[in-house]
Amino acid sequence: MTKILSLTARPVLVPMRRPLHTASGAVTDAPLVLIDIQGDNGLVGKSYVFCYTSAALRSMTALLTDFADWIVGEDLSPFMIEEDIQKRLRLLGAQGMTGMALSGIDMALWDLLAKTQGLPLAKLLGGKPMELPVYNSKGLGIMGAEKAAAEAIELVAEGFDAIKVRLGYPTAKDDVAVVAAVRAAVGPDVRLFSDYNQSLSITEARVRAIALKDSTLDWIEEPVRFDDYKGHAEVRAVSEIPIQTGENCWGPHEAAKAFEAGACDYFMPDVGKIGGVTGWMRSVSLAEAVGMPISSHLYPEFSVHLLCVTPTRHWLEYVDWAEPVLANRMQIENGKTQPLDGPGAGLEWDEQAVERYKFT
Ligand SMILES: [Mg+2]
Repeated sequence: MTKILSLTARPVLVPMRRPLHTASGAVTDAPLVLIDIQGDNGLVGKSYVFCYTSAALRSMTALLTDFADWIVGEDLSPFMIEEDIQKRLRLLGAQGMTGMALSGIDMALWDLLAKTQGLPLAKLLGGKPMELPVYNSKGLGIMGAEKAAAEAIELVAEGFDAIKVRLGYPTAKDDVAVVAAVRAAVGPDVRLFSDYNQSLSITEARVRAIALKDSTLDWIEEPVRFDDYKGHAEVRAVSEIPIQTGENCWGPHEAAKAFEAGACDYFMPDVGKIGGVTGWMRSVSLAEAVGMPISSHLYPEFSVHLLCVTPTRHWLEYVDWAEPVLANRMQIENGKTQPLDGPGAGLEWDEQAVERYKFT
């Protein structure tokens, strides 16, 4: 069996083509830690961790480098390694940066295993690469109705028929006006999702869901704090628009709690927080059991494989934030995409770009 030789973690700060201003703050550069796990068969598993803030880049790099001691010399067996790391993190906790480090390591291990078997990740997991509906999640931050309408047209022109608008303007009336302006700009056939990024109180979220009822939105995402599942359920009770959540859930246990509370109509795990490929597979099994449609959050390169083996697959979220350091990129046409050909998840670093954006 292949053994793990080494793990390297490299921080980069990549400029975003469209900075994103949400109701919970602005993201203008993508802070990533690139992970390479080398096997004793000469192959390298690759993944990255999206850190949300550059203030976490150094600590995340150190955490990953220190966690390497737990996996070097072990068999390439992602399930076993995940169990072992979970055990080691029982007291420290597997949420926040530790949960993201665990997820990033798990993703790189699965990538290495797929490469070792010479298979695309989707095939290794028992499925096959297929065409998936994808929405353009770039841009459309808190920018006002006029700018949002203009940007929406640009985002659709990139080859999409679904986009997402960030909400959480000062008043419900403002939110309604922004959605109306975007809808008028893109026409009736474009699917339109919305995201509050956890910014509202339960009462305010109920007011806004009702105000938006005729707005032709396809979902309202994270109206209240992500782990307030009861609050989500209270908003859902008055909303005619489906409620989407899940990107901040740490592992299948939290997914189970969200489903149990009736928090959402749709669920969108983030492979970098839910526990990597391992955590994703466990969470979507629970979703299958309750008929919960599953979309992805960030990490489109890995998520495109994972949705292929998700029975309740819904939408792939597309952002291009890692693309400046990638040597290959996803192809999107007429609102559809599919996994890249070749073994693994398909990530290849552009080493010159990695050097250029190195975070020091
Ligand atoms: Mg979101």
